[in-house]
Amino acid sequence: MHSPIVMHSPILLVEDDADVRSLLFEALTDVGGFLVYTVETVGAAQALMAGCGDSFAAAVLDVGLPDGDGRDLCASLRRQGFRLPVILLSGLGGEDDIVRGFEAGADDYLVKPFGIAELLARLAAQLRRTAPQARPTPARIERAA
Ligand code: CA
Repeated sequence: MHSPIVMHSPILLVEDDADVRSLLFEALTDVGGFLVYTVETVGAAQALMAGCGDSFAAAVLDVGLPDGDGRDLCASLRRQGFRLPVILLSGLGGEDDIVRGFEAGADDYLVKPFGIAELLARLAAQLRRTAPQARPTPARIERAA
């Protein structure tokens, strides 16, 4: 059963490896219940974010992309003011690589190979914190007081 917070949340997935991309797409869609938009390059991700970046609830970015580094993409999105949760995926598991990912503005970093269930759990954890419906409105705060 899908949590009402994550159900149908639009997720941007940037992954150039076709096998990994289709595996992640299926898991995020069928198991996670997300609405997943996939692109394969930094350029395509930038274009999509420029057009409708505010629509995405979270982004899952591969680090090794054909036209750049997912960490640089993340840093660029932060500079443009995008505050959505970003989870980086990478085969680079060294401490320096991971730290660089967080310094680029990522909220989480998963080293490949990782379990699909773990990615889904981490994504759900990010969305629990950031979903608009999870934030109390002033009216709700008043009623609670
Ligand atoms: Ca890659």
